[in-house]
Amino acid sequence: MRRRTGCATTPALTAFVFTVAFVAALAISLALRIWLARRHIAHVAVHRDAVPAAFTDRVDLSAHRKAADYTVARTRLGIAETLVEAAVLLALTLGGALAALVAWTDVLPVGGLGRDLALVVAVAVISGLVGLPFSYFQTFGIEAKFGFNRTTRALWMADLVKGILLAAALGLPFAALVLWLMRAAGPLWWIWAWVVWIAFQFLLLALYPTVIAPLFNKFSPLPAGSARDTVEALLARCGFENRGLFVMDGSRRSSHGNAFFTGFGRAKRIVFFDTLLARLAPDEIEAVLAHELGHFKLKHVLKRMLWMAAFSLAFLAVLAWLAASPWFYEGLGVPPAPDRPGVALILFFLALPVFTFALAPLSSLYSRRHEFEADAFAAQHASAASLACALVKLYEDNAATLTPDPLYSAFHDSHPPAAVRIARLKAA
Ligand SMILES: [Zn+2]
Repeated sequence: MRRRTGCATTPALTAFVFTVAFVAALAISLALRIWLARRHIAHVAVHRDAVPAAFTDRVDLSAHRKAADYTVARTRLGIAETLVEAAVLLALTLGGALAALVAWTDVLPVGGLGRDLALVVAVAVISGLVGLPFSYFQTFGIEAKFGFNRTTRALWMADLVKGILLAAALGLPFAALVLWLMRAAGPLWWIWAWVVWIAFQFLLLALYPTVIAPLFNKFSPLPAGSARDTVEALLARCGFENRGLFVMDGSRRSSHGNAFFTGFGRAKRIVFFDTLLARLAPDEIEAVLAHELGHFKLKHVLKRMLWMAAFSLAFLAVLAWLAASPWFYEGLGVPPAPDRPGVALILFFLALPVFTFALAPLSSLYSRRHEFEADAFAAQHASAASLACALVKLYEDNAATLTPDPLYSAFHDSHPPAAVRIARLKAA
């Protein structure tokens, strides 16, 4: 009898242990995020009244102070958003909101797949609604206050509607396919789901530059000017087709400037924001272009995709195991629902970031390594000094702080701190 009682309590105990692990991981990741953000704010504030020595000849004190205040405002908003997201996550899981949504979708007059899809849409709508006020305040509060915003409320709304339609057009068929595989493809469904996921990622990468981005911005060829001859010579030297180089009307929404490389194969593109182009001298345009060409030549986009593929296969294997474990559902506040794979899918994607948060610095480190490699490539094929000048202008236009907290930056930043990057370029 004692043995039987012991066996009966084991699943409940496992669920309880998992709940404790989930809450502990959430508390740790939350504490770490807030601690890092507060360190960052304090560090930026301490260095607010002195331009770092390496920049004194190029950045004036008022621009430096503006960057500090802007960074502090954004980081504060980030803390608020982190707290709200954690509260919503708790409400959805242990608070019982997801269990209620499961019960509600369980009686919808559609098939099992339709019920799961309705659940996915409901959770997507909730998380979208949670993020909306923050996005609005970021644009019309912070960006407007610091003089960067050029978006009207009408354009913001139009972007929002377009984004929702796009997410529905691309996301719904994909979600339906994965949910169908979870039901119909047997115990190895996760391998099929992985194949579909990889295909979907490549589809997005191919569609983004050619179809998706043009829905939001205009892309035009680099205009004739003093930069074009040097640019064309550089493109020819690096074997990049000239028709892959574009200027984007970023000035429609913001005065921030940027340049980026995206896509692969015939869909690859290097894009300059018009705001950046207007600020740079021809030799600086050449240097920034050389940096972006570095990302292309060194296959950074494809390398990231390969890592993503490896990680997602591992995560899907874990999901397949969890979906068959009753304690996974119970531990997160939902009755086990083996006939509703959508429940496991949603619980997994809600809980995953809490446990993988510690991996964020690795991804940032990897990304920063690529930035250094692209800088080195630019130093080789164009001028390191011109790239350094362009970077200073880029930092100024974006009011990016020159004095981030080193730990915060190591954890979050996809790009190395300006001082480190420029010191390396000077040494080159
Ligand atoms: Zn880069």
